[in-house]
Amino acid sequence: MENPLVPPTMFAWRKRKGNLEPIYEEIPVPPAPASGFLVKILAAGVCHSDWSLLKTERNFPHYNEIYTLGHEGCGEIVRIGKEVQNSKHKLGDIVAVYAVPGCGSSSCGECNRDLAHLCSKGQHHGIGQDGCFADYVAIDARAAVPLPKGVSPSEGAVATDAGTTAYSAIVKRAEVKKGQTVFLFGLGGLGFNALQVLLWIGARVIVSDTRETTLEEARKLGVPGEDIVPVGKLVTEFVHENGLEDMIDTVADFVGMKQTFSDAQNIVRYGGKILYVGTLSNETVVDPKICIKKRLTVLFNYGGQYSDVVEVLDLISKGIIRPQVENGKLEDFPKVLKDLHEGKIKSRMALIPSHSR
Ligand SMILES: [Zn+2]
Ligand SMILES: [Zn+2]
Repeated sequence: MENPLVPPTMFAWRKRKGNLEPIYEEIPVPPAPASGFLVKILAAGVCHSDWSLLKTERNFPHYNEIYTLGHEGCGEIVRIGKEVQNSKHKLGDIVAVYAVPGCGSSSCGECNRDLAHLCSKGQHHGIGQDGCFADYVAIDARAAVPLPKGVSPSEGAVATDAGTTAYSAIVKRAEVKKGQTVFLFGLGGLGFNALQVLLWIGARVIVSDTRETTLEEARKLGVPGEDIVPVGKLVTEFVHENGLEDMIDTVADFVGMKQTFSDAQNIVRYGGKILYVGTLSNETVVDPKICIKKRLTVLFNYGGQYSDVVEVLDLISKGIIRPQVENGKLEDFPKVLKDLHEGKIKSRMALIPSHSR
């Protein structure tokens, strides 16, 4: 189905192998894939992994020499592919883009275990393959998640990664239950979503961050002062002085530095869990004597499933999760990314293309 209002070309922020700065270039607007949609981008979230994607060269087989960045998108369906039948979507629908929808084949070892986001054969929008820092993106029908009423495109965009990763980590991986005590390291874009999910579950949450302002935000969400580690205070000391040694069921590490993981092993209770989500350090140290003696479970999380995106969007539409997101201009991507890397952005930024402002 053709939409006469779609222009032939667009501008996109692209990663070229060997080039550590993003390139802003004019490229053709892609056609709608036979089994999917052409989506006009209304908002696209900037993630810290965009920095890593630019600065560290990877050699995964599915990575193209050049591709459009942006793995958190939301937009309007403007063209529908020829083979799309009985779709729940129609022209004009607003959808969040699930960046890693998998190949969808019943013979795929990941997709047939509902782990499409770990499938290497399917699309990886903005992660080695064309993503959402552009005016348009071509997606498979499996990547389209309906945006519920009351959720803005910027919220929808950041829900697909920052929201979904946090939700999947807390609910599906760590399986945190009401009444449990969770120590949460890091209240950035993901950590703040995790905090809201934890409070919704009914867990007691003790928070640690290096920024006073974000701790203040946690206080506003209802975390009592006694559960906020003062900036600069040693975490192990805080836990000891507050008698929390046998209390912490799960440590959720949304920072991922050697220090936070070391603290996590020391402060979690016997039989407890450490949930590893942040990746600030490329290496960390497991102390086997502590981990074995305490019989700890260490869990890792990567992204989330399609159903997690749907559930997160539902929580946002009900006001249970309020993603902290500010809007910027698509043209300003390099500056926004630099600010994010330097810790100048307090939560999440969504970029809006000029056609949607
Ligand atoms: Zn990301
Ligand atoms: Zn697959």
